[in-house]
Amino acid sequence: MQVLKFGGTSVGTPERIKEVAALINDGQPKVVVLSAMTGTTNALVEISEYLYKKNHDGANEKIALLEQKYYTVVDELYKTAPFKQKGRELIQTHFDYIRSFSRDVFTLFEEKEVLAQGELMSTALMQYHLEEMGVQSDLISALNFMRIDKEGEPDEFYIRENLKRELNQLGNFYLVITQGFICRNAQGMIDNLQRGGSDYSASIMGAALQVDEIQIWTDIDGVHTNDPRVVENTHAISELSFDEAAELAYFGAKILHPTCVTPAKIANIPVRIKNTLEPSAPGTLITGTCTKQRIRAIAAKDGITAIKIKSGRMLMAHGFLRKVFEIFETYKTSIDMITTSEVGMSVTIDNDKYLDEIVEDLKKYGTVEVEKNQVIICVVGDLIADNKGIAASVFNAVQEVPLRMISYGGSNHNISMLVKAEYKKQALVALSNNLFNDQKSK
Ligand code: ADP
Ligand code: ASP
Ligand code: MG
Repeated sequence: MQVLKFGGTSVGTPERIKEVAALINDGQPKVVVLSAMTGTTNALVEISEYLYKKNHDGANEKIALLEQKYYTVVDELYKTAPFKQKGRELIQTHFDYIRSFSRDVFTLFEEKEVLAQGELMSTALMQYHLEEMGVQSDLISALNFMRIDKEGEPDEFYIRENLKRELNQLGNFYLVITQGFICRNAQGMIDNLQRGGSDYSASIMGAALQVDEIQIWTDIDGVHTNDPRVVENTHAISELSFDEAAELAYFGAKILHPTCVTPAKIANIPVRIKNTLEPSAPGTLITGTCTKQRIRAIAAKDGITAIKIKSGRMLMAHGFLRKVFEIFETYKTSIDMITTSEVGMSVTIDNDKYLDEIVEDLKKYGTVEVEKNQVIICVVGDLIADNKGIAASVFNAVQEVPLRMISYGGSNHNISMLVKAEYKKQALVALSNNLFNDQKSK
């Protein structure tokens, strides 16, 4: 069995939904995980922002626009009057529900319910389409089996048991459609796996079901050597190791959710990235095998804050790092990069929700400087095994870019550099031009 996940663009229009339906109806049993139609989650986030601000007119205007878009989808997607009718009723139910939040208090919990409507609609629309085409398929709700624990981590045991129960109840199944992204939390309330989290859903489900392969179908022919939105002439990489893919995803390659590789890696299930717009393209295969190629790809992670702590007295005394890390742990803030010297240390974080509190606490240990708007540039490959000259070629490439921090040796697969946001493009392009000769700036 396989788990296939289709992203927002892949189900973004009636035409695309029909194409995906044809693709998945190939005689092989599978679980199909769908994202919301492209633009929907962003629109639901905007609606939520209006609702937070109690701007009900603004919210209702946005809701009406999005609703209209869905009625057009329904009209184009279904051929027969009964399915057009069922589709319209479905859309109306979801939008009435979204509108009902205008009357209530609006907090993070309500926002999660609003955001969940995107995936609930896309999957129901697909199920009706398959039904109309006479294809045997079943829709199961991810809210019945996807759950995160108190730490926000997937509750593997619960997911495995409940997903299997859902499938067993279907008896002999062929195509099973379900939602990516959405889940319940430890209290049973609707939650999600963070933006872009449908990839993660698919990987968690694939691991739970021990499938042969997890396929992530998107709008590009695989993981590219650099961010194609910034650098020209990037190309798809045919094979990556789990570790290389994990580093790329964590350090900003938008094509994969940051933690989506982990469940597949632990269960040793290959992940294949495929292009819905070009299904015959080979894509990228991610497995446990490392190809020992030196530099594979480059990624960039935006929105980074650097924090420097300087202290002549206490720094590097034993126990100092523990105390510093405990402050970040107290505020549940993860550190991405760390560099140390005798008189100071720098760390980076991507979540600055508790920045003021962290800085206040750190001041006990020395002077603290904060620099926002930084970007981590990450070079990924087999960088240690045969590493002569690799660091030199990387740093030579970015000789015109001021580097704020460098991290090398934390894993065999990653060299990271911190630069100001204004140097991101220059750094990505310079690395591409020097490390992969065929790439030019856009
Ligand atoms: P989906 O909606 O299918 O989840 P995403 O938009 O999340 O798709 O991810 C696909 C996009 O990721 C591509 O269209 C591309 O612009 C962007 N991207 C960023 N970095 C990379 C990379 N290294 N390789 C491929 N795509 C990348
Ligand atoms: N629809 C969600 C988002 O836009 C999840 C996903 O597409 O993976 O973030
Ligand atoms: Mg995505």
